[in-house]
Amino acid sequence: MVISSASRTDKPFAVIHSGECYTSAVLINLLHDTSPPVLALLAEKHGLQRIPGLTARNLITRILARVADEDLLDLQNELVAARFGALPIDALLEIALIGEQDHKGGGSKPRMDQISLDEATLLRSGPPRWDYTMRGHDQVIDVAQRLLACDCEFFSFASKRQVLCKHLATAFKLIPSTYAREALIDLLVVRRYGDRQEDRWDFDSPRAA
Ligand SMILES: [Zn+2]
Repeated sequence: MVISSASRTDKPFAVIHSGECYTSAVLINLLHDTSPPVLALLAEKHGLQRIPGLTARNLITRILARVADEDLLDLQNELVAARFGALPIDALLEIALIGEQDHKGGGSKPRMDQISLDEATLLRSGPPRWDYTMRGHDQVIDVAQRLLACDCEFFSFASKRQVLCKHLATAFKLIPSTYAREALIDLLVVRRYGDRQEDRWDFDSPRAA
């Protein structure tokens, strides 16, 4: 398998597969966002002999070429857990409420205390989909379809950057926390590390949903 020499900043990656290899863009981008000492530890943990002085790129190439596919999936899960696993839902929502660019530039943070949970009415319930209405707007969270919808004005433009509106953030506080955590982590991972359009969550209008 050959990995292009592109760094995270010169996307897209050209990943050439030889045979059935597990190499998701998410994993490659996660690895590129990991420090060399941690990469060296991960390589060792997954059975690769320690070679001093390897660059991050060397380490990543080695890991992708030599670690078995099922272990690469574990590795991806470890990297995701290291970034998001310890965060409570409120903290995940804070990240989801701002875009990746705003995040880096320290943009203004939307206030989360604007909508009280009492203001939301559940219209339809049941995993994997919940429909709410609050403050005259309708929301849908469908974790199986990876679909989010709200008919507010903020959502219609924020959705292009995969950013949540305050209505959907409120809805995420109301659905069972295991679903909310899993969905938010998936959303944030794909938003930050995913390259493929088809992996992204659909941000839609409630009428279409
Ligand atoms: Zn909204």
